[in-house]
Amino acid sequence: MDAPVRVRFAPSPTGYLHVGGLRTALYNYLFARKHGGTFVLRIEDTDQSRYVEGAEESLLRSLRWAGLQYDEGPDVGGKYGPYRQSERLALYQEAAEELLRAGHAYRCYRTPEELEQLREEHQKSKNPNRLDVRLPREESERRAASGMPSVVRLLVPDGETIAFEDLVRGPVAISSDIVDDQILLKSDGFPTYHLANVVDDHAMQISHVIRGEEWLPSVPKHLLLYRYLGFEPPRLAHLPLLLNSDRSKLSKRQGDVAVEDYRDKSFYPEALLNFVAFLGWNPGDDREIFSRDELVEAWSLERVNKSGAIFNLDKLAWFNQQYVRMRPDAELAEELRPHLAARNWDHFDTAYLAQVAQLMKERVTFVYEIPELAPYFFTEPTEYDADAVKKRWKPESGERLKVLSGAYSSLAEWHADELESTLQKTAETLAVGAGQLIHPTRLAVSGVGVGPSLYHLLEVLGRERCLVRIERAIESLG
Ligand code: GLU
Repeated sequence: MDAPVRVRFAPSPTGYLHVGGLRTALYNYLFARKHGGTFVLRIEDTDQSRYVEGAEESLLRSLRWAGLQYDEGPDVGGKYGPYRQSERLALYQEAAEELLRAGHAYRCYRTPEELEQLREEHQKSKNPNRLDVRLPREESERRAASGMPSVVRLLVPDGETIAFEDLVRGPVAISSDIVDDQILLKSDGFPTYHLANVVDDHAMQISHVIRGEEWLPSVPKHLLLYRYLGFEPPRLAHLPLLLNSDRSKLSKRQGDVAVEDYRDKSFYPEALLNFVAFLGWNPGDDREIFSRDELVEAWSLERVNKSGAIFNLDKLAWFNQQYVRMRPDAELAEELRPHLAARNWDHFDTAYLAQVAQLMKERVTFVYEIPELAPYFFTEPTEYDADAVKKRWKPESGERLKVLSGAYSSLAEWHADELESTLQKTAETLAVGAGQLIHPTRLAVSGVGVGPSLYHLLEVLGRERCLVRIERAIESLG
């Protein structure tokens, strides 16, 4: 029987959750849920020099916002903890000792200056193979005896082909000759990513490692470590790179990359997650809208592709638009409130706001655009758009609107249908096209020339507001 599925998201707390990290977390989450497995969050915080205060909290906050709940992790516990690598240092030190004893690792006493020089020479020589940093045995012993600081390095064998099957990329083979003698333990006793990652993936019984393609070149080192430590390696899956639209690697220069930036810009977590799901995967048909649970159903690692995924912000906006449209009106009404309150527009009931939302939701990407685009739902228009006036308001418009207003004031029902038929009838009586009433009426009640269906707009605004506004427009525009 296969081992139970256990996957992990293993971010380093060096800043914020990157959208690429969100995709990795999502795919791990989906894989775990799909296979009835466990999704682990492990904080890889052993690089003291890259530690950023508050970064772990920010990661957890972003994961929570996105709704990616892990089953084990630093704040929820689990039987394979602790889940912060800085709290597991003894394990890595033991592993390094074991590798040293077995002759698969060595203490390296090279000074930073020497390494710098070796690196320069190596670069000049254009030698494709690994940079040889090994010291003659006697020199090493001399340096050890004089108490020089050392690091522990992996002793990479020569002339070996390290081959493995990547679940996304297929067969991969890399010559050990190009693999560096990786530092495993630094002179301060802290492990590097490579050692800690392998030790923990084993200790936490991780069955599948699903992570970004940038880690692919590290795999040979990891496989050597698994072998030397006598561990069974997990299955590996490397996800395609995220690219800017010019196919360069996704970078901050070309736009936001932090999940929190998207939250702050009012994207819905569902929309961001849906968008991110498609960065490297598609369902094989034309469906695009997937809730998290629907993704669990539809998503599979087999359908993750190898080629880089373009990060297209227009597409993200499109997803947000779809989620605005799918939101129940009453929820949109509540989401509107803070944006209205910010303008001191806060005396509207939910039923009214829900009607406004229903009329406007097809026209916006974010809820906050509703009061920007249609302030007239919340405040009297104080000016009339000059272009619209020029184009739509004729010398006769005032007289015509007076007739319409008279017909409207005696309507029994203030509903879009009646409003429409009354306007049509009035236009016939006046022997003008309906447009001669429609456009000036819109201008009068909204102050602008474009907006949702006029009759629905009138219905939602209500009789009193409309009649007052029409009268005022007649006064102002003549
Ligand atoms: N700590 C690594 C990172 O920050 C984890 C890579 C991996 O998943 O092995 O992405």
